[in-house]
Amino acid sequence: MPLKRQIAMDAVLKAMRLCEQVQAEMVSTDAIQKTDRSPVTVADFGSQALICKAIGDAFPDDVIVAEEDAQALKENATLLARVTNYVDGFTKETVSVGTVSEWIDRGSGDVGKSFWTLDPIDGTKGFLRHDQYAIALAYIVDGVVQLGVLGCPNLTYRLDAIDAERGCLFVAVRGEGTGLYTTAGDFLEQVYVSEETHRFAESFESSHGDSDAHSKIAEALGITATPVRMDSQAKYGVVSRGEASLYIRLPNPASPDYRECIWDHAAGMIVVQEAGGTVTDANGAPLNFLSGKRMHENRGIVATNGKLHQHVLNALSNL
Ligand code: AMP
Ligand code: MG
Repeated sequence: MPLKRQIAMDAVLKAMRLCEQVQAEMVSTDAIQKTDRSPVTVADFGSQALICKAIGDAFPDDVIVAEEDAQALKENATLLARVTNYVDGFTKETVSVGTVSEWIDRGSGDVGKSFWTLDPIDGTKGFLRHDQYAIALAYIVDGVVQLGVLGCPNLTYRLDAIDAERGCLFVAVRGEGTGLYTTAGDFLEQVYVSEETHRFAESFESSHGDSDAHSKIAEALGITATPVRMDSQAKYGVVSRGEASLYIRLPNPASPDYRECIWDHAAGMIVVQEAGGTVTDANGAPLNFLSGKRMHENRGIVATNGKLHQHVLNALSNL
């Protein structure tokens, strides 16, 4: 695992820099809508290209299950040229449009005995708003997440210190804890969940959860503080550092059958678990990363400091 950890960290750090550069130089044609009407940008494709290239070069036999594919890019020459240009700036060799598409499509593997799962930009809506977003990479063996690397370019070292340095990398290895690193890859500290019950985290996008139900759960637990509302798996990072005691995500009443994607939770889950927390679905079941790209057997997400977990599940069953 040390080599996988190093390659994954370096790749995510590089992708974080690419995302920041794209964000600073963004033009209107850099974002398009996918068929499900969710946004995807030059940075999503560029991040996926860099990370899949790094993994594919180091571990040619490894399978990668990533969110994006190069189909839409191949049909949009302007976008493909932009992605190629950015990726080229982050690689030693000269990159062509064909190579970039090939690297992106290294991410079209299937869930199996062992695989990586990648969200090149989790929270693209947050990225477009200049709010929170994350680059999330995890390695899964026999359904168990063994490694999680979560890059949060816009997250400050301390949530409440708005002037604090921005850009956090969380790295968790099964059995070895969760470390917090700078965007230069320097180790800052091991992180731990908080024993306290103080506040909860939920999605910024109200359609991605059921905020009325989340508030009722919080009320049942005696939580009165305003929730931390942010995009992406940065929420798991915030729970792992003890800045929130709970991250709750119940299906929105408008989409009760929504099933979560593996790349939206695998890295964040191990980051919280290795910091001492607990992560299950809303029924208390473990997250199943083997049922496909979507977790068909799970409904919703509950990530806590551990101590609160059963209380949350009890409150949920009384809703
Ligand atoms: P967040 O920023 O935590 O709200 O999560 C962003 C992720 O929400 C995206 O990557 C989508 O995969 C996912 N998503 C999209 N639609 C929904 C929905 N209706 N319910 C829950 N999650 C969703
Ligand atoms: Mg996502």
